[in-house]
Amino acid sequence: MGLATGIVLRGTGGFYDVRDDYGGMIRCRPRGRMRLDNLTILAGDRVAYTLLEQGLGVIEEILPRRSVLTRPSVANIDQLIVVSACARPNPQLTLIDRLMVLAESNGIEPMLCLNKIDLVTNDVAQNLATTYERAGYEVLKCSAKMGTGIDELRLALMGRVSSFAGPSGAGKSSLLNAIKPTLSLVTSAVSEKTGRGRQTTRQVELIELEHGSYVADTPGFSQLQLDGIDILDLGSYFPEIDRRSSDCRFSSCLHRSEPDCSILEAVEVGEIAQSRFDSYLLFLEELEQARIY
Ligand code: GDP
Ligand code: ZN
Repeated sequence: MGLATGIVLRGTGGFYDVRDDYGGMIRCRPRGRMRLDNLTILAGDRVAYTLLEQGLGVIEEILPRRSVLTRPSVANIDQLIVVSACARPNPQLTLIDRLMVLAESNGIEPMLCLNKIDLVTNDVAQNLATTYERAGYEVLKCSAKMGTGIDELRLALMGRVSSFAGPSGAGKSSLLNAIKPTLSLVTSAVSEKTGRGRQTTRQVELIELEHGSYVADTPGFSQLQLDGIDILDLGSYFPEIDRRSSDCRFSSCLHRSEPDCSILEAVEVGEIAQSRFDSYLLFLEELEQARIY
């Protein structure tokens, strides 16, 4: 009999719950040699398995991964939904940019979800949105409270494996509850959140929103340090820098004070947002510091 394929939603005590391609749930154990080869099966892994009987199976192999995140470990995340409140708490642009660079450098497509638009004027929300739309990102304006933008968010998640990231209190749980009320995720007032040390060692599970739409039950990156990025590559993780950098005089231009730098010119005339460029310079400095020590 041929092998079936599916996606691992969670591991529990040596078994893995695998959603097959037709919506069935198979409880699988790994073939013995996988343990010998020290292969770790992660939530999000696509696997090939042999079907036994009554919803049981044996995982034969892990299919090639498109991406892997560690701490906490999860495979094949397609997109990172960076969630920021428009207010309460105020947006932290450096954090948004950092999460986007982390996603880009891990081969994951970031998008921005601006939540709590009910708390600000249209202008305030749109100004924030424009900064990121002009950089080249998809931006959704939502209010989990009023139900605004939820259909658009559901559509953006369809058929993909996503992870939500962003500061505590931005409304990540509220947005997921708005998409699928039966989840009943716990939400809490901003001041009540401890925000630190949540679930970093715990195993990740995929939450199924609908058939084919999954969200990791972890706020993405627990570690916000940018390391392992070559300083020459940093610009390529800012789409608005990436698409202009071939116009700089020097191919190794770091866009700081080099002559005929197309990025400095674009910042000068307002085509690249100052806040985005400031984040770029800050991250560049961090990467240089990390290299020295
Ligand atoms: P998380 O830490 O990112 O998961 O944030 P929560 O979903 O727990 O939300 C934090 C607080 O913000 C809760 O008190 C929510 O009720 C509130 N909240 C979430 N979304 C909205 C929204 O769109 N508008 C307003 N006004 N409050 C919201
Ligand atoms: Zn340059």
